[in-house]
Amino acid sequence: MELRIQHLNKTYDNGVKALNDISLTIPAGMFGLLGPNGAGKSTLMRTLSTLQDADSGSATLDGINISENKDSVRRVLGYLPQDFGLYPKVSAYDLLDHFASLKGISQSKQRKEVVEALLHQTNLYNVKNKHVGGFSGGMRQRFGIAQALIGDPKLIIVDEPTAGLDPEERVRFHNLLSDIGNDKIVILSTHIVEDVADLCNHMAVIRQGQVVLQGQPLPLIEQIADQVWKRFIDKSELALYQQEFRVISSRLISGRTLIHVYAEDQPAEGFTPAHANLEDVYFAAMAGLLGTSAATTTASTANV
Ligand code: ADP
Repeated sequence: MELRIQHLNKTYDNGVKALNDISLTIPAGMFGLLGPNGAGKSTLMRTLSTLQDADSGSATLDGINISENKDSVRRVLGYLPQDFGLYPKVSAYDLLDHFASLKGISQSKQRKEVVEALLHQTNLYNVKNKHVGGFSGGMRQRFGIAQALIGDPKLIIVDEPTAGLDPEERVRFHNLLSDIGNDKIVILSTHIVEDVADLCNHMAVIRQGQVVLQGQPLPLIEQIADQVWKRFIDKSELALYQQEFRVISSRLISGRTLIHVYAEDQPAEGFTPAHANLEDVYFAAMAGLLGTSAATTTASTANV
């Protein structure tokens, strides 16, 4: 299985260029699409889910052009949108049963088997007769996955699924996603680095409609392993440090400010190696220090 995205562009009527020449190759397995709010993730997810057309470029699933073959792609697609609306006064069982008929499972015996198996898989069987409107955020998202998995899809797209979940529900949701299987393509769109770090074997970072980095998390971390340095500073010094060093992140830890700085060698006394993680990769990519935009940044710095 392979999803190949080539030079996708989309500009909305208000002039916002949400997709700016996006090219990605996505193999089977869990793929993390990481980027801040407004980066263009949902636009890309809706395009891949056949709900919206790009202005130019193409996306092909095993050679089949998605925008030209919407019906056949929909048969192998499972989609959990960011704003998954639910019918509040319907039980989980009945709603899933309804979605299964919409997906073309017309025999009631077969539908019962599918619905019950999915309710078990998503740990919702014991609440199957409850109205989905009364579900917690985590239960809703698990129900969303149940409906996305109807019909054994080959391409599964989940858009910002863990936003707003509490830590326990997030772990549960991660476990559910990780069990889906490596023979399918699962695209997880998120602004939460931890989602990708926990689950994905391939990833891309997008910013302002452009891919700024793509690869596999572990090699990407290794690539910067020796180039991230940390130091606790006084909060009031942050602006100063930002002027002098390539600060890729700053955060409060127990009321103190910890900064991570990107540098080949120890930037100054007091800095120690930070043991880089995926968050450092993400922030370095967002700062234009890694990946496709790094070459441009280096070139423009060299020209100054
Ligand atoms: P993300 O999912 O990464 O938050 P989106 O794809 O939702 O990003 O949005 C990308 C950009 O496109 C944002 O600037 C957003 O405001 C804009 N946008 C999204 N949908 C529309 C729309 N229907 N009309 C106009 N602008 C839109």
